Amino acid sequence: MPRLAYVNGRYCPHGAAAVHIEDRGYQFADGVYEVVPVAKGAVVDEDPHLDRLERSLDEQRIDMPMSRAALKLVSRELMRRNCLSNGFLYMQVTRGVAPRDHKFPKAAKPALVMTSRQLKAPTAQTLADGVGVITVPNIRWKRCDIKSVSLLPNVLGKQKAVEAGAYEAWMIDPEGYITEGTSTNAWIVTQDNELVTRNASSAILNGITRVRLLKLAEVQGIVFKERPFTVDEARGAREAFITSSTNFVMPVTRIDGEPVANGHPGLLTCELREVYESFVQDAKVSA
Ligand code: PLP
Repeated sequence: MPRLAYVNGRYCPHGAAAVHIEDRGYQFADGVYEVVPVAKGAVVDEDPHLDRLERSLDEQRIDMPMSRAALKLVSRELMRRNCLSNGFLYMQVTRGVAPRDHKFPKAAKPALVMTSRQLKAPTAQTLADGVGVITVPNIRWKRCDIKSVSLLPNVLGKQKAVEAGAYEAWMIDPEGYITEGTSTNAWIVTQDNELVTRNASSAILNGITRVRLLKLAEVQGIVFKERPFTVDEARGAREAFITSSTNFVMPVTRIDGEPVANGHPGLLTCELREVYESFVQDAKVSA
């Protein structure tokens, strides 16, 4: 069965799906997106993701392309047509199509594209090895809380990581604090056993996985602190990991080529991965 995409009201074969050359997302990166995980055919944390989509749109002064209920219906239909069981939905909304001009067009209608992708879970070996991160300067703009499709610094950072044989790049602000990864949030467990992730602000994207994991940690009675942490603190940490909708909780075992602690995934990291996995495997998450 061919993979399908939803483009402005139509389901079309993924390979033939296209948007207009004067779509403002294409010309100005004038749009936002969401990546919503799907596990066992259920959409995980759907409302928090749609809340964030609405917020990003609001901050960019773009209207919702359709009601939330309609977006959910399109998601379900796309999942059904693509037989999506485990993976993610990608939603992108731009200000629409208009003759190229920086100012907002008067008549453009928001454009909506939705795709889905099936993903395999990471292998036991990947989870046992953990992944490496490198550190790069944070060269992004000052509104990283908006999930903008303008991702060039993230793309460049990720490519640098890949070329260094690493999985992710952690971006460092001018004060020496880690902001986040190019498509993940950054976490450490300090030598004092404190679970730390940077506080939500315009310096980071407030990950839905991040927020969920904090809630799950609270339920488990795991103490955490939301605060900035430096590269040096991360290098000297007991444990480190990243979170995102496609990685869930992924142990970080190397920073800039040096092992984190003994170079193996930490105990708390593994516990948190299990806790998060049981949360997503609960098919009732938001079926
Ligand atoms: N930070 C950035 C810059 C991201 O792009 C992402 C996800 O794409 C995240 C963090 C993690 O967010 P979430 O947990 O909602 O996937």
